[in-house]
Amino acid sequence: RKFDYVAELKIDGLSVALHYENGVLVAGATRGDGQTGDDVFSNVKTIRTIPLRLKGNFPAHTEVRGEVFMARSVFEKINAELEMQGEKTYANPRNFASGTLRQLDSSIVASRKLDIFPYDLLSGASKMFSTHWESFLWLEENGFTTNPNRALCKNFDELAEFIEKMQGLRDSLDYEIDGVVVKVNQTLLQDEFGATSKAPRWAIAYKYPAMQATTQLEAINIQVGRTGSLTPVAYLKPVLLAGTTVSRASLHNEDEIKRLNLKIGDWVLIEKSGEIIPQVLQVIESKRNGTETDYEFPKTCPVCNFEAIRPEGEAVTRCSNPDCPAKIKARILYFAARKAMDIEGLGDVLVETLVDNGMIKTVADLYDLKVEKIANLERKAEKSASKLIEQIENSKQRGLQRLLYGLDIRHVGERYAKILARHYKTIENLANATVEELDAIHEIGLAVAVSVFNFFQNPHNQAVIERLKLAGIKTEIDGDTNAQTNENFNGKTFVLTGKLEQFTRDEAAKIIEDLGGRVSSSVSKKTDYVIAGSDAGSKLTKAESLGVKVLNEDEFKEMITTA
Ligand code: ZN
Repeated sequence: RKFDYVAELKIDGLSVALHYENGVLVAGATRGDGQTGDDVFSNVKTIRTIPLRLKGNFPAHTEVRGEVFMARSVFEKINAELEMQGEKTYANPRNFASGTLRQLDSSIVASRKLDIFPYDLLSGASKMFSTHWESFLWLEENGFTTNPNRALCKNFDELAEFIEKMQGLRDSLDYEIDGVVVKVNQTLLQDEFGATSKAPRWAIAYKYPAMQATTQLEAINIQVGRTGSLTPVAYLKPVLLAGTTVSRASLHNEDEIKRLNLKIGDWVLIEKSGEIIPQVLQVIESKRNGTETDYEFPKTCPVCNFEAIRPEGEAVTRCSNPDCPAKIKARILYFAARKAMDIEGLGDVLVETLVDNGMIKTVADLYDLKVEKIANLERKAEKSASKLIEQIENSKQRGLQRLLYGLDIRHVGERYAKILARHYKTIENLANATVEELDAIHEIGLAVAVSVFNFFQNPHNQAVIERLKLAGIKTEIDGDTNAQTNENFNGKTFVLTGKLEQFTRDEAAKIIEDLGGRVSSSVSKKTDYVIAGSDAGSKLTKAESLGVKVLNEDEFKEMITTA
């Protein structure tokens, strides 16, 4: 027999059943596991999108099932207000909706603007229409708002297309979804499919990977960064999150651990958004059993045991040893990174071995390495050793901009390295610049000027640069960084979002920067333009709400070609 499917979004909220007698709402209850749950009648009545009276043709007994949820925008606004008032905040819209719907005071519920998307319709125990699709039309006619993101699909290909499309839109929706529900459209067939004890056989849910998960904190370990910063990292019991197994999360600094009131052994809620590494959102204090232990932030560097100092008023604790091996290793890796000198094959394991064996102490030592010496290190074949030496040799030609970036001058990232390289052309010119001269450059602030000046005054740095020059490293500007700036781009901030057809993200960013603009990863009031490709998500929404100018790919191209 022929049949088709209806695909609907699975809203991450609470299921409720609403009962109408002769068109009047008379009861409302939550539906936990398909069974009737709590009576929430007085609260559902305050939900704006639930009609108290049906408007069209209706049978004597009507049951409407739907998912009650809180819009993301409402959640963010109310949660922020609660936080300001020092009240309890909620981890996510679902918890907020759930907590709200069970509130005793209906006026609070009314103020919180819950919403509903209906997904099923019954009259007595049976379906009202011969197809599920028709129920949506009836619901609309009777005063409900249905979710427009649904599809009538003839086959699995069409279903797959819908599922994929909605996954792409997921971040831009103003409500959270955890997947797609697929139902057989023909309700008579639904009866034939029947049901298991837990769920109907005629409906299946396709779940998207979860963006949040709970797990247990096993330990906090300290990473020592390039600047000697001691960064705590949460080591978690592995948990599946958004399709990947997560076992670590960022904890930022000592204050964050205090803010979370985190103890070793705690259950925690973690969240992953975009490509960012997971964050610990909160401790689930109700799961504590007394075996959790306090965490003491270290007073010494875990790598070299020198004193770790946290200056008054700063959030970061740093190792006080200038020759801390952790700092040296991180600096070498930074220097060798793709955006800097791009030395392929110089990975963290090798750098660790080289530093631990005393073979490199500064980036200049890299250029004294010999094939035999590397090959003598454990299990390093001669062939790969000579390949590495070749890569190191090639890196000499990267030019001033990448060199400045790789030298890791405080405050000087990619952008300032480019500005300084363009302005001074050679490292000698830059090394001789005064703070006043540096500060006078458009876009270079005093903090950067002072930092650059101090770097070149430091005898240790001077010696390293001298050795780099002797090794034959190019310390002048590279040809292509000297491109002309374009008035449309100069000094403007851009944010890229969505998928562009004719450029990769990196290409678009390079064009913007080459023309004098800067690329930022997040939208704020300071953003001048957002370039939105297809499937643009929350950044586009934010740009629109802030009134930031949005360009499509064609408009961006036009901007490049007209100065
Ligand atoms: Zn140290």
